[in-house]
Amino acid sequence: MNHALIPLAYDFNALEPHIDAKTMEIHYTKHHKTYLDNFVSVIEKYPELQEKSAEDILRSLSSLTVEESDRKIMHNHGGGLVNHNLYWSTMGPNKKIDTSLVLEIEKTFGSLDSFKQTFSECALKHFGSGWAWLARNEQNELMVYSLPNQDSPYLKNHTPILGLDVWEHAYYLKYQNKRADYITAWWEVVTLL
Ligand code: MN
Repeated sequence: MNHALIPLAYDFNALEPHIDAKTMEIHYTKHHKTYLDNFVSVIEKYPELQEKSAEDILRSLSSLTVEESDRKIMHNHGGGLVNHNLYWSTMGPNKKIDTSLVLEIEKTFGSLDSFKQTFSECALKHFGSGWAWLARNEQNELMVYSLPNQDSPYLKNHTPILGLDVWEHAYYLKYQNKRADYITAWWEVVTLL
């Protein structure tokens, strides 16, 4: 498995004014790349992991035969890698609405607006660094929850569908302490809904 930096499908300034170009550039070229580099350097020590995707490694992380310090790096930096890959791919300047997902959300949460409110509150109330998630559990049901740091839903054997990065590095340059404003702006650049 070649864990390369996946190219962004849009320019750093494509999400302006909602997400500013400087934040995008630093977030993608520095933060995201650091997660990738650290993950790759630890995976290189284990030939049996070379062919596995980062998602598969996270799903089976607790049962892998690896040094505990390396398991922690895979947890944090593998999580950082897959979380950011999803984040970039679900944002963009043009909507690409997933109508079947919207219908399922309406069925599960009552309405799209009530889902967005639940998700936004989850992101707003999450204490410290972490992510708000829309994910599928093992019964294929949609769930909203937050996880700390770079923990990935794959660690719970869930499949993430939408993730909102609420680390300060995702919004501090433009929004400072106003996480609520960042959350409101982020919905404008989510392509799926
Ligand atoms: Mn981030």
